[in-house]
Amino acid sequence: MAMNRIQFQAGLSMAAFFERYGTEALCTAALERARWPDGFRCPRCGGAAHCLLHGGARKVFQCNTCRHQTSLIAGTVFQGTKLPLTVWFLALYLISQAKTGLSALALKRHLGVSYPTAWLIHHKVMQAMAARDAHYVLAGQVQVDDAYLGGERSGGKAGRGSENKIPFVAAVSFSDEGHPLRAKLSPVPAFTLTAIAQWANAHLAPGSTVRSDGLACFSAVTAAGCSHQPIVVAGRKPRDLPEFQWINTVLGNLKTSLTGSYHAFDFGKYAARYLAAFAYRFNRRFDLAALHERLLVAAARCGPHPERLVRLAEGHC
Ligand SMILES: [Zn+2]
Repeated sequence: MAMNRIQFQAGLSMAAFFERYGTEALCTAALERARWPDGFRCPRCGGAAHCLLHGGARKVFQCNTCRHQTSLIAGTVFQGTKLPLTVWFLALYLISQAKTGLSALALKRHLGVSYPTAWLIHHKVMQAMAARDAHYVLAGQVQVDDAYLGGERSGGKAGRGSENKIPFVAAVSFSDEGHPLRAKLSPVPAFTLTAIAQWANAHLAPGSTVRSDGLACFSAVTAAGCSHQPIVVAGRKPRDLPEFQWINTVLGNLKTSLTGSYHAFDFGKYAARYLAAFAYRFNRRFDLAALHERLLVAAARCGPHPERLVRLAEGHC
């Protein structure tokens, strides 16, 4: 089966993880490397010359040029945390290695923190994943399909979702040989021409070739400079068409992951984040062993995301 290469890769063993990141000093050094791979850079002026101030639990960097002081975690997703980095690193490890995602409740038990703390850690890490993937657009051969969170697939009937269902576009890009490359899963207000035009402008490279079933709204990808190839086969649903095998596989895996790990009541408010976190893992599915390190880089560079922002309902796209 095509997925076996993914399922049977080695990953990062727990023993190897603790050897690399088992102490606060090891985590501090790893975060410093992830944040500033070429050495310290002042976040205010970009200067490299600095001195270290030791006063509190964490070292403070002072820029020699502008005297700006910053801690290692200020300006990262860890900003403001009172938890040891070892707890955060273990969270990154558990989230990166869990095949079908991880619930905040499971994270609470593994980390030994309260449920609200685990929930916040989980959402901040998912936000780092989403921010990282937001840099990429899909290009080349792209398949798209309409899908819903919180319900069965639409079967091509636009706008039929109930109030509890969150409509989203499922899109996968392919190599010239037909191998799936990257996925984007993006909530949209509805499956309308306007919404798909906005989605395409945000997530597709101009010149891409987009294949979909006959749902009319997908013709709006031409607004983003893409060509559209609807595949219409009378009497057959998109899920039965071999052309859509990978989209179906991705959506099937998504459903398994969400129903196994998360509570449905979170979806309405945080759909974009859950979907982006799933796509982040899919897009790095061949690199399980390095996923923790890549997630650390994402967390170090995505900027702070305080609880106030984490709990805001998200806009679409
Ligand atoms: Zn400076």
